[in-house]
Amino acid sequence: MARYIGPVCKLCRREAAKLFLKGDRCYSDKCSFEKRPYPPGQHGQNRVKFSEYGLRLREKQKLRRVYGVLEAQFRRCFAHADAQKGVTGENLLFLLERRLDNVVYRMGFASTRREARQLVLHGHVQVNRKRVGVPSMPVKPGDVVSIREKSREIARIKDALGTVERRQVGSWLDVDRAAFAGTVKTLPTREDIGFDIKEQFIVEFYSR
Ligand code: SF4
Repeated sequence: MARYIGPVCKLCRREAAKLFLKGDRCYSDKCSFEKRPYPPGQHGQNRVKFSEYGLRLREKQKLRRVYGVLEAQFRRCFAHADAQKGVTGENLLFLLERRLDNVVYRMGFASTRREARQLVLHGHVQVNRKRVGVPSMPVKPGDVVSIREKSREIARIKDALGTVERRQVGSWLDVDRAAFAGTVKTLPTREDIGFDIKEQFIVEFYSR
């Protein structure tokens, strides 16, 4: 399964925003974006005026990078959102937010979405008490996401749970940290997304 394996701090600097891709480091003074808040590369500090196209491209890339989804999968997700009733941009955000790896991250079992994806792929995560190895699986209201009993001693899961407070859990999720489990109460709302994104720009990008 393909995934991005390049340097992630450059992605924050490229998108001119903290995307929180490195867990603890993002909250420390080691954060590259805090130290160098300009795009990477030789001409990073030059002033750049984005075209209308460029603005929309950057917004699309930002959302894709926050959730760690590659272009082909993101495009499929957009097509799915477009085919649904309602506002396409919001549908897209909700589809991404409902991904199992994102839910594992939101519930605090991993300190980044990338780490959450790995936990799912390595079989540490259960949905409704059944092992699930597909990070993109969408959760639905009533689903119970938990960490397999054998995996509860893993240090990075415990560490991530210890620092969950500083990340936004989302009102649509209910987490019982002592039981290493959480319930999906409802579908996410726009407020639960919790970062600055202009989804309409992404709709316009794909509607060119
Ligand atoms: Fe982005 Fe800073 Fe985290 Fe690196 S440390 S991923 S620059 S927020």
